[in-house]
Amino acid sequence: MSDLRELYQSVILDHNKAPRNLRRPADANRSAEGRNPLCGDQLTVFLNLENDLVKDAAFEGSGCAISTASASLMTEGVKGRRVEEVFKMFDGFHRLLTSDPASPAPDEGLGKLAVFGGVREFPVRVKCATLAWHTLRAALEGSPVPATTE
Ligand code: ZN
Repeated sequence: MSDLRELYQSVILDHNKAPRNLRRPADANRSAEGRNPLCGDQLTVFLNLENDLVKDAAFEGSGCAISTASASLMTEGVKGRRVEEVFKMFDGFHRLLTSDPASPAPDEGLGKLAVFGGVREFPVRVKCATLAWHTLRAALEGSPVPATTE
């Protein structure tokens, strides 16, 4: 289990234990659902998009520690950013997670999100870490939906 201990770094553990932005914002105007059947992770990403600015980002769902922590760190990281920047982050995160684990993790300027570089060594976990990002992209590329009035 020493490999797993390495993988579950403190940041990931912390975000799994106390996920940020785990909620459904009433003013969300974009959303998408994502599933990773390999692990059983499922989540819904909610956005409040105003023109090209991500004013709010949140998620709901259930999954393993990696997928939950990834969604938590992602929503924290993209809030307040322009869509163009968010797509750049998506590309950088994807490059990091799919880079050769034998070489040093590339610096994609991802800040805290770089902790997921450790996941490269566990190919089966890469989908857990990227699920939230694929779901986010689907939400950004999807059509606007009316905000819920609840
Ligand atoms: Zn998972």
